Parts: sequence; C-alpha cells; structure tokens
Amino acid sequence: MKIDILTLFPEMFDSFFSHSMMKRAIKKGILRASARNLRDFTHDRHRTCDDKPFGGGPGMLMKPEPVFEAVEALLGKIPPRTRGRALTGRRFVYLTPQGEPFSQQKAKALSRSRHLVFLCGHYEGVDERVIRRLVTDEISIGDYVLTGGEVPAMVVIDAVVRLLKGVLGSEESKSFESFSHNLLEYPQYTRPASYRGMRVPEVLLSGNHQAIERWRRQEAAQRTLKRRPDILKKQESRSCTP
Ligand code: SAM
Repeated sequence: MKIDILTLFPEMFDSFFSHSMMKRAIKKGILRASARNLRDFTHDRHRTCDDKPFGGGPGMLMKPEPVFEAVEALLGKIPPRTRGRALTGRRFVYLTPQGEPFSQQKAKALSRSRHLVFLCGHYEGVDERVIRRLVTDEISIGDYVLTGGEVPAMVVIDAVVRLLKGVLGSEESKSFESFSHNLLEYPQYTRPASYRGMRVPEVLLSGNHQAIERWRRQEAAQRTLKRRPDILKKQESRSCTP
C-alpha cells in the first residue's frame, strides 16, 4: 500500500513511521509512506497556505491552491469538473470533525485500497472547493475538535496498516479482537497466575480448551452488554432488517 500525507507539519510523522508496526510494515515492503509539506507547493516568499474566510468570521482557512498543486504533483493533472473518486481510482481522505465517524469497518474498507492520500486540516479547516473536487472520504475520529488533522491521520493510518496482510505477527490476533465480531474482546491474563492476592480465573489454567472458549464468549458478551450495548443493538437491528 502507498500512503501520502499532505500536511503543514510533515515532521510530526517522522517518529510515527520509524517505530513499532509502521517501521516493520515499511521494512517488509508492505507500506510506502511519505508526508509532504503543503508549503512546498506555494509560490510566495512567506510560503502562505492560509487566508481569511470570505464573508468574514473568526480564524483562517487553508487555501485551495497548495492542495490542488500537491495533488497534481502526486497524481498528475486534475481534469476540470472531475469529482473525488473519479479523479484517480484512489482514495483521498480529509480528516474533519464533520466527517463520518471512524470505525473498524471503515478501516477494513480503506485497507483494500492500494493508494491512500490524507489531507490534514488546520486553522478553521480547508476551502470547500478542495473537499468538493478532490475528497472521496471525510472522516472524523470523534465528537471533539482538535487543532489539526495530523493526529487523526495517524489514528486512521494505524488502524488501516495493521490490517494489511503480513504486518502483524499473528494473523489470528486480528480476527478475535474487539469489534471484529460485534463484540468487545474478553479479559486476558498472563503470568504469574497469582499476583498480590489476585488470582487468574481457574478455567484459564484448566487446559480445557472448550471450557476456555465458552468462558471467553460469555465474558465478551457480558462486557459488551455492560460497556457498549449500542454495538449489540446495531447488530440486532441489522439481523432484523429483511
Ligand atoms: N472549524 C472546523 C469545524 O468546526 O468543523 C474545525 C477545524 S479544526 C480546529 C482544524 C483541523 O483539525 C480540521 O480541519 C481537521 O483536519 C482536524 N480535526 C479536528 N478535529 C478532528 C476530528 N475530531 N476528527 C478528524 N479531524 C479533526
């Protein structure tokens, strides 16, 4: 997979791509990633990427020209009147609190693309013409407002890249984790079996795999019911839909 990030702060991604799973994915040749500075696509002495919004109002907006020029440098000429997906067959993601709430399902859908471009907003956001003409997916990581799109981009990229084949040590670990079966994951323990008076549930030490499986299913269901009943409700209404 190829990932390009358009940002005013490309250095923020240096550490992100040089540790842990990202580093491994790049080393294995599964991921090619680069963060591009939008200021490299400006033409004035101050490398200006923002301006006042038409009609007044507080704050500044990201200008369209550096974004369009960065996209053209990456993907080639943008034909007039092209919109989003039709542009290239790739996905162009804008991180915004106004977007579709991010989910494991969305991460799976994005992991099927061979090329993702992420646009990180700043200030009051980005000129609407960028969104209308270039963006295929608007994604929010939650109902709160952050300063910029860099941290949200990292959240989405992390969730997507760990789904790529060969990135995680054990392919199994993905299929049983939270959200993969509309359930949260069951509680887990490691050694020692007893610590500061707290003992690991006996069933996990029993060696009885059927009993362990049953216990885990019950715990996952109880935990989901208590912490995230909305997931179970969604699942119910999906299975009731004719
Ligand atoms: N004025 C915008 C609004 O009210 O919708 C908020 C702009 S915010 C201060 C600046 C940038 O941070 C956004 O353009 C976006 O890229 C990013 N951002 C902030 N909160 C986010 C969230 N919850 N999810 C995704 N991106 C977010």
